[in-house]
Amino acid sequence: MSDECIFCEIGRDPSNAAVVYRDNVVFAINDINPKAPIHMLIIPIKHITGLSEMAGNDELIMMYVALAAEEMAKRQGISKQGFRLIINQGQDAGQTINHLHAHMMGGKSLGDMG
Ligand code: 5GP
Ligand code: ZN
Repeated sequence: MSDECIFCEIGRDPSNAAVVYRDNVVFAINDINPKAPIHMLIIPIKHITGLSEMAGNDELIMMYVALAAEEMAKRQGISKQGFRLIINQGQDAGQTINHLHAHMMGGKSLGDMG
């Protein structure tokens, strides 16, 4: 947990209405600045800066990220039509929040990755 981290702040509050999904490992929120009709963030509860800072059994967290993304897609009714799951890792990818998270985007045809 990091005191200055917005995702830690959101995740540590059990009554935060922004949190639309929570299990023992990850939680999900709607992105504040959506880039697609459905744009959610799947966020590990544990403060990990990014993929390159994972240690110990942290890799297991990614399983929860993937499963939560699929669960969110099901709940949003887009599991069959599809969605994109993206992790911006580091500077070149434009990572702005230094707490590992995955973007689950869908609800329209997203085109190629550009
Ligand atoms: P990154 O560029 O780090 O992969 O993505 C960070 C994402 O977090 C951005 O899409 C941004 O819109 C979203 N975001 C930043 N601050 C907040 C916030 O306080 N609440 C929510 N729901 N999303 C946020
Ligand atoms: Zn954090």
